[in-house]
Amino acid sequence: MCNCELCKQNKADNKGSHIIPNFLIQSSFAENGKEGRGNELIFPISIISDFRFGRTVLPERIHQAIGRELSDEDIEKNVKTPIPYVKDYFLCTNCEKRLGVIEKLYADAISKANAIDNYIETPISPHLSHLFWLSVIWRISVTNFGFKFQDNTIEEDIRNILNNTLSLKIDDIPNSGIYIARLKKYGYYLTKFEEDDVIKGLYAPPTKRQQTSFYPFLINNYAFIFTYQNINDYNIDKNEIHCFGVEDYLNRSRINKGDSKEFFNCLDKETFIQILKYQSVDHASHMEEDLGVILSDYFEIQCPKEFVHEVFMTYIAPIGKRSTPSKNAELVLQTLNQHRLWSIIKTTYEKWVKEYDNAFLGNISLE
Ligand SMILES: [Zn+2]
Repeated sequence: MCNCELCKQNKADNKGSHIIPNFLIQSSFAENGKEGRGNELIFPISIISDFRFGRTVLPERIHQAIGRELSDEDIEKNVKTPIPYVKDYFLCTNCEKRLGVIEKLYADAISKANAIDNYIETPISPHLSHLFWLSVIWRISVTNFGFKFQDNTIEEDIRNILNNTLSLKIDDIPNSGIYIARLKKYGYYLTKFEEDDVIKGLYAPPTKRQQTSFYPFLINNYAFIFTYQNINDYNIDKNEIHCFGVEDYLNRSRINKGDSKEFFNCLDKETFIQILKYQSVDHASHMEEDLGVILSDYFEIQCPKEFVHEVFMTYIAPIGKRSTPSKNAELVLQTLNQHRLWSIIKTTYEKWVKEYDNAFLGNISLE
């Protein structure tokens, strides 16, 4: 067993650690307020991000989302697929508890936050909300959950801050000192969308194209836009931020630098739907490119461009040639099926081995 990624001392003995805290994402799983396994529901916008996390498209309400029923096989596979936001053995029990303490505090605080005009302040000390969000982005990066800091000194710096501040008791978390002083190197914008029973968010980490000096994440009904280079409002060029249109609303927001209470803006359901559609179209128009990046990440081997192209063309063949981004979005929604994508990858690869004698995956077997 490896050592815990946070303290680097204890054995990583904890099972089922949440990469993304449950309270942030549970409404995207729960139907009619029910929680727990078996009730997970995700608005199925992105087959690629589903595929990336080894998750299949989820059955309920699928008809209204994609216009067809799921097969029995799809449903059976969904039941067997664990919640993808959870990972075993990367934290020790103690660190899992330390993360849980700050999560609970933050979850309570954000649920009690009151609107002041269209803005909301989270009613806890700013260093605590800052530590909470740093703990989220650190977990995403350390588990490579669709995103990893290219500069690994950032991940290590954040780990070091978290490890030296988080505690089993909130009162034991320092509110000043060398580690807290380092929080100001990191900044973020936060936006929360109004949701309801039908409109569900998803987890969309920043694509390579979206990564500038800002890293925008959609996490269910939150947009979290992180930076470690640009932490003063007056320096920020909003044109640099590409968060599916959320950036258009940031002029009325303020970047959180850990020096005053966390500030976030709220956007309504209609805006949320627009943002989700924008995400879907943007994603679809770059699907082939994304597929290449994801397959190469998945197999940890550079897949030939021609291979990716062949898989992509086979995948979209039933709908016809791709033309416009909106046509692409439509066909992605119509053909959304991870199982089918996987079987195309296998067939195409078998062809590559047999016909082109190009077994570029080496010893990796496609199961
Ligand atoms: Zn630990």
